[in-house]
Amino acid sequence: MSSNASTHAGSSLHRQAVTQIARGADLIGLAPQYRAILGEPKNEVIVNFPVQMDDGSWQSVRGYRIQHNNILGPFKGGMRFDPGVDLDEVKALAAWMTIKCALVDLPLGGAKGGVAIDPFALSEDELRRVVRRFTAALGSNIGPEHDIPAPDMGTDARVMDWMMDTYANMSGPERRNSVKGVVTGKSLICGGSVGRVEATGRGVLYALRHWCGEHDRVLDGMEIVVQGFGNVGRHFARLAAESGARIIAVGDHTGAIGDPSGLDVLKLGMYVDEHRGVAGFGAADHIDDLFSVKADVVAPCALENQITADVARTLSCDVIVEGANGPTTPDADAILADRGIQVVPDVLANAGGVIVSYFEWLQNRSARAWSAEDVDERQRSIMWAAADAVSCAAAEHGVSYRDAAYAVALRRLADTYDRRGIFP
Ligand code: NAD
Repeated sequence: MSSNASTHAGSSLHRQAVTQIARGADLIGLAPQYRAILGEPKNEVIVNFPVQMDDGSWQSVRGYRIQHNNILGPFKGGMRFDPGVDLDEVKALAAWMTIKCALVDLPLGGAKGGVAIDPFALSEDELRRVVRRFTAALGSNIGPEHDIPAPDMGTDARVMDWMMDTYANMSGPERRNSVKGVVTGKSLICGGSVGRVEATGRGVLYALRHWCGEHDRVLDGMEIVVQGFGNVGRHFARLAAESGARIIAVGDHTGAIGDPSGLDVLKLGMYVDEHRGVAGFGAADHIDDLFSVKADVVAPCALENQITADVARTLSCDVIVEGANGPTTPDADAILADRGIQVVPDVLANAGGVIVSYFEWLQNRSARAWSAEDVDERQRSIMWAAADAVSCAAAEHGVSYRDAAYAVALRRLADTYDRRGIFP
C-alpha cells in the first residue's frame, strides 16, 4: 500500500469529499448557494520554507493550511506530516472537518494542514526546525480565535508544543500566555487536556458501542480487525480489549499480524514503540492480507482509500468503524451497502479527537484544568447525541449512516447561513 493514498485509481480525494457532501445535500434539498460555498475551501495557504539539515545542507519544504469553512466558529483541524501530503488530500480532509464539527455540534469550523515530509526520517532537531519554520511561515493565518491546528498522522504532542511555543514567541510578551489555545493536542504540562491522547480511539469505541446498542450486539467477545496502530488504532484497540473484545489482527505500514484468540494489545504497544511497526511481533502469526481476516468489526485507523471496491467485495464482517478519515472509497460504499455491511462513518466515529480538542481550547481560555471524569463524560454525551441524530436521520431518509451524517451536518450549516445570511 502506498502512503500517498490521496489519489486512488486516478480519482481525487477532494472530489470524493464533494461527492459525499452532494449526496447529503440532495437528501435535505440544500440550497445551491450553500453547495457552492461548501464545494471549495474558503482559503488555501501554501508556504515554501527553507530548513537546514544536520549535515549543513538546506531543504525546501512545502506546507499547507486549508481553511474550508468557519461559519460555525474558528477553523479547526489537524496537521499531517507525511511524504504523501498534497493539496488535494488536505482539501478533502479540511472539508471533512467542517462536516464533522457541524455533526457533533461544536462551535468550530473545518481546516486541515500538513507538510510533505517523512517525520521519521528526520532527527529531533531537524523536525523541530521544520515545525518552527512552518509555524512562522503560517504567521497570522493561525491563531486561537481564528484557526487552531491539532495532531494528525505523523504529528504528536511534541510537535504541538513546539507550534504553540513558536506562535507564543511571535506574539509579544503580553499575549504569551493567552495564546496557548492556538493549537490543541499539547502535552499536559504545556496546556493540554487530560484524555486528549486517547480521545479519538475512545470515540471510535463509543461509536461502536452505540452501533452495538442499536443492533442488539455486545462488545464482550467481539472479534475486531484494526488497521493502523498509531494514535487512533492503538488506543481504540486497547480500550476495546479492556471492554472484552478480542483484537484478532492488526496491520500497519510494516505488515500485518494476528492471533485468533486475541492479541495482547499492551505487549504489542510496547513492541511497536521499540520497533516502529507491528511486523515481527513474536506472540502472533504473520498475515498476508489483513482485510481477508473474518471478524465482527473492521476498524480502519490508518490512511484514506484502504477499503476499495476489491476489498469491499471480499471483506467478511458486520460493520466497519472508520477511525481514519476517508478509508472507504465511494464505490466500495455501494458494494458494502449491497452486501449488508454497515459503515459507521469517519465524521462520526473519529470525532472524539476534535471534541476533546474543543475541551482543551475551552480549558486554555479559562486557564483551568478539567478532570478525566469530566472529559470522558462530556465526550461520551456529545458523541452519543450525534450518533442518535445520525440513526434518526438514517431511519427517516432510509439511507446509510454516512449519508445521514452528512444530512445532519449540512442542515446545521444551512440553518446557520439562513440566519446570518451571506455577506455582503
Ligand atoms: P499516526 O501517525 O499516529 O498512525 C498512523 C498509523 O497508520 C500507523 O500505525 C502507521 O503504521 C499506519 N500506516 C501508515 N501507512 C500505512 C499503510 N500504507 N498501510 C497500513 N498502515 C499504514 O496517525 P493517527 O493520528 O493515528 O491517524 C490515523 C488516521 O486517523 C488518519 O486518517 C487521521 O486523519 C485520522 N484521525 C486522527 C485523529 C487524531 O486525533 N490523531 C483524529 C481524527 C482522525
